[in-house]
Amino acid sequence: MDQIRIGKFIAETRKSINLTQRQLADALSISDKTVSKWECGKGLPDVSLMLPLCSMLNITVNDLLSGEKVSETDYQKKAEGNMISLMEENKENKKRMVQSVITGIITIIAVVALIVIASFISLPTIIRIALIIVSAAVAAAGISVCAMLDIKAGYFECPHCKGLFVPSTNDYIKGCHTFTKRRLTCPKCGKTGMCKHRITR
Ligand SMILES: [Zn+2]
Repeated sequence: MDQIRIGKFIAETRKSINLTQRQLADALSISDKTVSKWECGKGLPDVSLMLPLCSMLNITVNDLLSGEKVSETDYQKKAEGNMISLMEENKENKKRMVQSVITGIITIIAVVALIVIASFISLPTIIRIALIIVSAAVAAAGISVCAMLDIKAGYFECPHCKGLFVPSTNDYIKGCHTFTKRRLTCPKCGKTGMCKHRITR
């Protein structure tokens, strides 16, 4: 799925019917920041928004996912290709989820080992302090890598409107969480709640 191409296509189509980002966003009840993110190729429209978006832009979902107006002879071929890309995206997400868990486990083991060494083995104070600083750095790096992989692995589901969205890194890190849910503010309905992490659309 070529996000940059799709983004350019959304921008071109929107401009060709004289809509601003704001007007398009309002019609879909989302923020204009979201529209701008799509158009810059930094994210795909959520599946639940694809039909309303396409009807606003007078295109088909197949056009949208192909990043161009699809001619009738190519239609079937492109539709199949787009379906396969969506399935591969889900596979990628599962891989990221696994990588995130593995990174988390390695981080915990490394940090615990460093702290044990620093606390229980007799070492010069300066080396002890260095070890503690290193373990803090390893913990910070591990947590941010985990967070990055985890944010990219799929979507969060709003408990109020059931909309799917990808939170900003900042919101993600600040949100308190359990293993499968995280407290986030939904960009679609604006409500805050425990959002379930879903790998697939
Ligand atoms: Zn919502």
